[in-house]
Amino acid sequence: MITKQAQFDLSTRNTFRMKVSCALYVEVTEEEDLLAIDWASLPQPVFVMGGGSNLLFTGDFPGTVLHVAICADFSTNSSAKLDQVQGQAAKLDQVQDQAAKLDQVQGVFGRGQILGGGPGPASVPQNAVECGIGGPGPRGEIGPSPKIGWTRSTSSCEPPSAAQSSAQTSSVSEPSSAAQSSAVADPSSAGQSSDVADPNISPDCPDNADVLVTVPAGTVFDDFCAWAASEGLWGPENLSLIPGECGASAVQNIGAYGVEAKDIIADIRAYDRETGSFVNIDPATCGYGYRTSNFKTIWKGRYIITAVTYRLSRTPQPKLDYGGLRKVLEDRGVAVPSSGTCAPPHMGRGRGPFPKEMGGAGVERSGTEFPEEGTATPLSAQIIRDAIIDIRRKKLPAVEEIGSAGSFFCNPVISHEHFERIVAIAKEDNGPEYAVPHYDAPGGIKVPAAWMIEQCGFKGRRNGGAQVYQNQPLVIVNASGTATPEDIIGLEQEVIKAIQTKYGITLHPEVEHI
Ligand SMILES: Cc1cc2nc3c(=O)[nH]c(=O)nc-3n(C[C@H](O)[C@H](O)[C@H](O)COP(=O)(O)OP(=O)(O)OC[C@H]3O[C@@H](n4cnc5c(N)ncnc54)[C@H](O)[C@@H]3O)c2cc1C
Repeated sequence: MITKQAQFDLSTRNTFRMKVSCALYVEVTEEEDLLAIDWASLPQPVFVMGGGSNLLFTGDFPGTVLHVAICADFSTNSSAKLDQVQGQAAKLDQVQDQAAKLDQVQGVFGRGQILGGGPGPASVPQNAVECGIGGPGPRGEIGPSPKIGWTRSTSSCEPPSAAQSSAQTSSVSEPSSAAQSSAVADPSSAGQSSDVADPNISPDCPDNADVLVTVPAGTVFDDFCAWAASEGLWGPENLSLIPGECGASAVQNIGAYGVEAKDIIADIRAYDRETGSFVNIDPATCGYGYRTSNFKTIWKGRYIITAVTYRLSRTPQPKLDYGGLRKVLEDRGVAVPSSGTCAPPHMGRGRGPFPKEMGGAGVERSGTEFPEEGTATPLSAQIIRDAIIDIRRKKLPAVEEIGSAGSFFCNPVISHEHFERIVAIAKEDNGPEYAVPHYDAPGGIKVPAAWMIEQCGFKGRRNGGAQVYQNQPLVIVNASGTATPEDIIGLEQEVIKAIQTKYGITLHPEVEHI
């Protein structure tokens, strides 16, 4: 369904709560809606928006704001719903109906227009289940509005026969080809059907099997994180509570606590406005870097992302060495590995106890030591998620309570020589023993912008309704609730100027100015 509203008030659609409007607001709830839009008739430019949590609208927007509202429902008890899906022939019939509907769509718009296609989202009717069966559809064809899908790598794991039969009926294609697909997918692989497994581990499946989950772009990213942790699936737990939607996760390469979206993205499905067709984009071609990608630079405005496929794992992959996470877990009595990032395979499922039959406690694997059984709470994706949420709540403003777009500035990377000059300034200011926080980074040394902002005395500084956040000076907040874009930009410029003067570093905003 396509909905349109002229002179739309965007104040509830951007987390900064800027009171601005756009000439036209368009929302689509189905992939094929994008084929039906008469793009030339829309007020220009067209800007694709997710949850509006990395944006600063600097004034009323003269063009069209488009929101991809294709969502999965990860609401409570999704696991049970997933289980229900298996073996329900009625629902598979609905899938086939949907496929017939698809053919109609393709008939209307012509197959010739549908280039690439690729491992499209699952063929699941909107009303079938909140969390549908799925995975990628055949290459060369457009899929209908995606629901979530999952499947396992079949190279080392044969799924249960029941799952196989569902897969054959619902024509779900080989998921590993999703990861291998290129910007324009190879239609020759069309029809490579595969095995779709239910999300539960089958007895003959080793714990190291990957799980690919295709999530529609408009899904709240943290709903996906919550679901993954509750299913005992590893990958996105460190990214918990980052505001925004799954589509934007692939644009922004969101990151937190040592994990970036690029680490878990296997495939991106998008509408290509240049060709008027759907493509599957290999993440290796996306130019991912620190909070950036080709979607933000050379591809800007070209692709409208409709679904993202994430590669999750049943194998524990804890990343604990950033932002004090390890310490928080230790303080909570959680069994954290003493070194490295690996953990025994039995630690992956939810909050359950150490199963003795799987190796038990005190076992050393790959050089990693674990506490004795019974002495500590076993580590799980859910426990890491819970800790991350607590840490973030203490440091960052809750979007429901105070307007912001998260970290306002990127952390600069400078040369070693430049860093030595910063160290000299800091020792002059704070004494000879003072240590400047810093991290090794590709191309030099990363110095936290928050540290520089604080050193320049900006913590809590106000400009009209805008304020440098007291608990985390990297964040500028709409403190009054009525801050104007000018208030925010005025404060931004003050910060940039002060840091340039003191340290010779020009900060660049992470927040996108529209
Ligand atoms: C309190 C707070 C904390 C935050 N913490 C973090 C953090 O820890 N790490 C981090 O990385 N970020 C963080 N952010 C920033 C923000 O959450 C992320 O950048 C997020 O990915 C933005 O998602 P969104 O859906 O709101 O996208 P938007 O802000 O609406 O858009 C972001 C960009 O993505 C594009 N886009 C969105 N959807 C689509 C689509 N379907 N197709 C094509 N392009 C699209 C937009 O055009 C825009 O360029 C934080 C923000 C807040 C408010």
